[in-house]
Amino acid sequence: MLYEGRSHTAEHVKTAGYTHGHVLERCQVKPSRMLVTLATLGVAAMVHATSPVLVIHGGAGVIKRDMSAAKEKAVRAAMTKALQDGYAQLKAGKPAIDAVTTAIAVLEDDPNFNAGRGSVFTHDGKNEMDAAVMEGDSLSAGSVAGVHRVKNPILLARAVMEHSPHVMLVGDGAEAFAKEQGIALVDPSYFRTDERWQQLQKALKEDAGKQPHADLETAKHFGTVGAVALDSEGHLAAGTSTGGMTDKRWGRVGDSPIIGAGTYANAQCAVSGTGWGEYYIRTVAAHEICMKVSLLGEPLQRAAAEVINQEIPSMGGNGGAIALDSNGNIAMPFNTDGMYRGWIGADGVAHVAIYDDEQDPSNHPPAAPSSTSSP
Ligand code: ASP
Repeated sequence: MLYEGRSHTAEHVKTAGYTHGHVLERCQVKPSRMLVTLATLGVAAMVHATSPVLVIHGGAGVIKRDMSAAKEKAVRAAMTKALQDGYAQLKAGKPAIDAVTTAIAVLEDDPNFNAGRGSVFTHDGKNEMDAAVMEGDSLSAGSVAGVHRVKNPILLARAVMEHSPHVMLVGDGAEAFAKEQGIALVDPSYFRTDERWQQLQKALKEDAGKQPHADLETAKHFGTVGAVALDSEGHLAAGTSTGGMTDKRWGRVGDSPIIGAGTYANAQCAVSGTGWGEYYIRTVAAHEICMKVSLLGEPLQRAAAEVINQEIPSMGGNGGAIALDSNGNIAMPFNTDGMYRGWIGADGVAHVAIYDDEQDPSNHPPAAPSSTSSP
């Protein structure tokens, strides 16, 4: 079987398995025969409410030595609020996409994250933001890239999905659409924070002194935000929002707004990535994880770990991702010192973790206890 651990509702049978044809092909059962079988089993009449789940990230690339206690406290508080506000949507019976955009908008409004208000600076000293959303069942998607004045790019990405005939809008055109849609635009100075400005100055100095190398590149990717949610009807959604990378040039666009690279959802799997975007684009990382789940039937955690911790590092990249399947399983692989991450499910409690020695539901192995024996 394609799925383990949860009964198939009529809706799941209808939408699961990537396409109807795919389910039928995998099951090796003729459509008419399958319907008769389902009817006989009474499956079509079964309705199960799913326990909603929301998972968020605030970026990989966290470096322990760079984190003050005050910053850590502020980050944990913002992550908790994002989880609680997003989960309230799910508890109220709202669709997964509402939880995703609500949680991401909270993080976009907080200057501690590289998205919205706290976006990093380009080489030319601008803030240039990207965002995307996707709904799993319909494979509907919307994204924006290279916007400078949109207060919450995630809301614009959603408007592209819901109110335009297109999937991806960039730059001035995206902002003209935002205006038409009544999406809040702000003066570019809204995004100017001193911390990000200082990061650009440091990067410019390092650029001038030497060729960029892997450590330096990693340090430039930090704080992208994302969310994946499963609603009470069993539908999944994913979203990601970012300022990209410090010192980016020439209209560079990363993986976050590229459907399949940094953001993807289908009926069984939803993913939001964070890391060195060029590698996520080249591995089509989010889609790759979901295809391992949907087509190969791999468990979510294995699929996510293979892409994030094997394929991407083997090419020279790094980062992390959050992933959620339609059974409510969570994966949070990363290969940096830490990844801001949080989850909330049946217990209704917001859980937040940052470093790699903190436990999370993806069974990310805790750090080995330090040896007490003498050498
Ligand atoms: N993936 C983002 C990008 O490359 C950066 C990040 O995740 O922090 O634009």
